[in-house]
Amino acid sequence: MDLDKELLNAVFKISEDAIIVCDHDNKIIRANTSFNDLAGYSESEVLGRHLFKKDERNRERSFIEILSTRDEEALSWSGRVMIRRKNGEAKLSEAVSYTILDEHRTPQKRLTIIRIIPDRMAEVTGTEINPQYDPLTGLPNANLLNDRLNQATIAANREQKSVAVLLIGLDRFNMVNDGLGFEMGDLVLKEIGARFAGTIRKSDTIARFEGDRFCLVMIVASSDDSVIVAEKILKAMQTPVEVAGSEIYLTASIGISIFPADSDSGFNLLKHSESAMRHIKKSGGGGYQFYSGEMNVKAKQRIDLENSLRHAMEHNEFVLYYQPKVDIVTDKIVGAEALIRWKHPERGLVPPGDFIPVAEESGLIISIGEWVLRKACMQCLSWREKGLPSIRISINVVAPQFRSKRIVDQITETLEETGLPPHCLELEITESILMGEPLIIVETLNQLRKMGISISIDDFGTGYSSLSYLSRFPINTLKIDRAFIFDLQKNHQNAEITRAIIGLSRSLNLEVVAEGAELLEHIDFLREQGCDTVQGFFYSKPVSSDEFETLLRDGFQKV
Ligand code: C2E
Ligand code: MG
Ligand code: MG
Repeated sequence: MDLDKELLNAVFKISEDAIIVCDHDNKIIRANTSFNDLAGYSESEVLGRHLFKKDERNRERSFIEILSTRDEEALSWSGRVMIRRKNGEAKLSEAVSYTILDEHRTPQKRLTIIRIIPDRMAEVTGTEINPQYDPLTGLPNANLLNDRLNQATIAANREQKSVAVLLIGLDRFNMVNDGLGFEMGDLVLKEIGARFAGTIRKSDTIARFEGDRFCLVMIVASSDDSVIVAEKILKAMQTPVEVAGSEIYLTASIGISIFPADSDSGFNLLKHSESAMRHIKKSGGGGYQFYSGEMNVKAKQRIDLENSLRHAMEHNEFVLYYQPKVDIVTDKIVGAEALIRWKHPERGLVPPGDFIPVAEESGLIISIGEWVLRKACMQCLSWREKGLPSIRISINVVAPQFRSKRIVDQITETLEETGLPPHCLELEITESILMGEPLIIVETLNQLRKMGISISIDDFGTGYSSLSYLSRFPINTLKIDRAFIFDLQKNHQNAEITRAIIGLSRSLNLEVVAEGAELLEHIDFLREQGCDTVQGFFYSKPVSSDEFETLLRDGFQKV
């Protein structure tokens, strides 16, 4: 026996996947141990038996049945099979098969590898298919959807959130069935179902509702969240579905209703989503619509904003303003926070609060953040090169940026390209970022710190209640949120919180910056408590780079 054959034999034997080899007539001629274990039959009981298609008559005799359509001409196939075990149990499994050709290219054997379907997919017991799952797509069916919808409304009530019900209908799907046949139609539905399943979070439910309709149920903080998902679904439809060598282009119409705004009954929510879906289908399909008119207006505004942000990015409409961080003992500028503004052609200077949240949700923040990083580094370097006092530049980094795998590379590249020394850069992150996967966060922070970059916790005191992260993560600075500063002269509690944060920083050896210091009283209090660095209108509002340069050159006039 040659080495290749021996190797193949060994792989066949030890594979954890169940593998069978059939002849051209679908008769099993070899089966490995994993397959025998899975089917519960001994090898001799398996050999010589047949694989059958779902609708073939003599399927009762078979213990392995092909559920998904298989094109007999195609050389490879993947789909669902049902294994009926000796003890009567039925197990839905995924299978791939490859046809082996002889030297005349005629099919000889078929190698089929079978995997048990993962948890989220259907589990079958007895001889009946689980009544809660759709056998074609493996997704929950309308029964299970109803349950999940009810559970979601209960959970949303408790958490004071909403539930979005998205009914997704494939447009003109009957043309696929009529033109290509039901088998092809099934393949398309299967593929689309898998795509939808790939766009949702684990906690959401996507179900095959009926025929060519799918339904997505998810708990949302605001109706805007459903817009993001509806867009993702429409995007997932843009890639054509490939079946049997042809590409099929499809669109979907999505009707959205919201619990509790539109109704508190699951039945009515589905009805409302359906009527919204019908509406969008009538106007040509390929879009989404809310049941309630009010939300349609909100959704439209959001989309308009997203589009104008894209336009702004391409047309260079963003500018950075800089706000000094000042040492209150010497009145010297020690740093600058770069704060983005949008120079809107009609609306004038738009503050970040009006567009950063949408940029975050739409993913545009990644490219905006890249721009901010580069621009701020170049600006800081240019001040250094002009011989102005050396300062540290801070930029704000939000969760999607921080979580993006590229963050460390991006910063390394930008520092290399611009030539700014790493110790001149500081990242301001919020406490919520630290609440993600701790190992990944520590790793990212350590890498950044190793490079010499500083990390500051922005809006400190407003976020998470556990402070254990302060010792766990390599942090340099706490930035006291301005909510505690603005009224500390008359709000005793805020004054105490500020005092406590300053004390905490000192004992943990962290720098501390007070944000939003507007009055002399604030400065006096902070100085007394030992917080030496402040950022606030008392010294300066955020200003343009030219104005900042003047401040840096001339300093503050002593009052
Ligand atoms: P932040 O990082 O906490 O920035 C400080 C905000 O406090 C700035 O608002 C600043 O103008 C304001 N501020 C500073 N001193 C005072 C004061 O004495 N009194 C009052 N009332 N306000 C003061 P701004 O520029 O509107 O920025 C708001 C938020 O937008 C920022 O909060 C930050 O979270 C976000 N942001 C700004 N620029 C960027 C950016 O480039 N990228 C990202 N991801 N977020 C940004
Ligand atoms: Mg900040
Ligand atoms: Mg802040």
